[in-house]
Amino acid sequence: MSEATTVPDVRLEEVVKEFGDVRAVDGISLEVPRGSFFALLGPSGCGKTTTLRMIGGFEEATSGRIFLGDRDVVGLPPYKRDVNTVFQSYALFPHMTVADNVAFGLHRKGIAKGEARSRVAEILELVDLGGRENRKPRQLSGGQQQRVALARAIVCNPRVLLLDEPLGALDLKLRKQMQLELKRIQNEVGITFVHVTHDQEEAMTMADTIAVMNNGRIEQLGTPAELYERPRTAFVAGFLGKSNLLDGTIAGDGLVRLADGSELRVHTNGTSGPVSVGVRPEKISLANGGVNRLTGRVKESAYIGVATELVVATTVGELTVFHQNVEAGGVAPGIGSDVTLSWAPEATFVVDPGDRADRADRGEEQAI
Ligand code: ATP
Repeated sequence: MSEATTVPDVRLEEVVKEFGDVRAVDGISLEVPRGSFFALLGPSGCGKTTTLRMIGGFEEATSGRIFLGDRDVVGLPPYKRDVNTVFQSYALFPHMTVADNVAFGLHRKGIAKGEARSRVAEILELVDLGGRENRKPRQLSGGQQQRVALARAIVCNPRVLLLDEPLGALDLKLRKQMQLELKRIQNEVGITFVHVTHDQEEAMTMADTIAVMNNGRIEQLGTPAELYERPRTAFVAGFLGKSNLLDGTIAGDGLVRLADGSELRVHTNGTSGPVSVGVRPEKISLANGGVNRLTGRVKESAYIGVATELVVATTVGELTVFHQNVEAGGVAPGIGSDVTLSWAPEATFVVDPGDRADRADRGEEQAI
């Protein structure tokens, strides 16, 4: 690989941002590889927008360094950075046509009219707006306006595109459709996207890499599958999908002992002492085939179409189980039934018990 392709498009080193006595961003370091789709994911107030705004130059870091490629951009105004931003409010010029909105940046850069026209046509095809060049923004739907904003941001071919909750104003169905569209567009243009969202499903659908943020820090950074299958903290386990977390203690290599003395085989990651041991609801089967087993009684049952969501009370706490409705007419065990729950050691993870309090504080305690 050549030197140029190994330099990340965005690099943050120990970046801090304070607003008075609020530490919005508390020492973030990360790298965004060239051409990738990167998501900053976290709850409201975790510092993701501030991080994005510092990359764009709309906010100055209190300390730390920010690089775009190998250029240190701290102190540079937004227009001197090779980035463009798409905001939730599309900020289109209402009196201009779609084509003129998209061409705006090209004209400012002094690109010749003929070339600008063909670039605009090409980019409007890409965002599926061919034939709508002469409409005004108010003659378009919300989703179409967002595509114009996207086209306008990528037409000048920036090194990095920053997206600040760009789908937030769209209804759920359109948002899901646009998630796949955005991913396709990013693939086609190959520009690095840095996307801010509080929606875990959105981040998982689109991003190659996700940085999960909490209280101004990165809790964990990885691919969607890594974060989901191997969360390293209770916060990550609870923020991406549902998790069951049980109190236990490491009792040996790959072994956790629960409060009632029963043992579970796990990936211990070299941890020792007290832990929370986790398993996802869909990894639990209502049969005794798996190595890890608990018995309990069904306390709640909710039919949700693809699955029946059961809450099973065991001696070590309540577990949520998704019983897949695989067979037509298949029935899940009813309330009051005694069941054996089992799952594989590979589906079992351990996290530090220390951050369980934090999870409960936020009212996000799940199945225990
Ligand atoms: P949201 O999803 O709600 O936008 P966020 O994760 O993007 O949240 P930020 O907007 O980055 O969070 O805000 C992080 C923290 O910094 C919050 O506590 C916020 O109140 C504070 N903050 C952000 N901007 C300012 C500002 N200009 N002045 C003072 N405090 C600010």
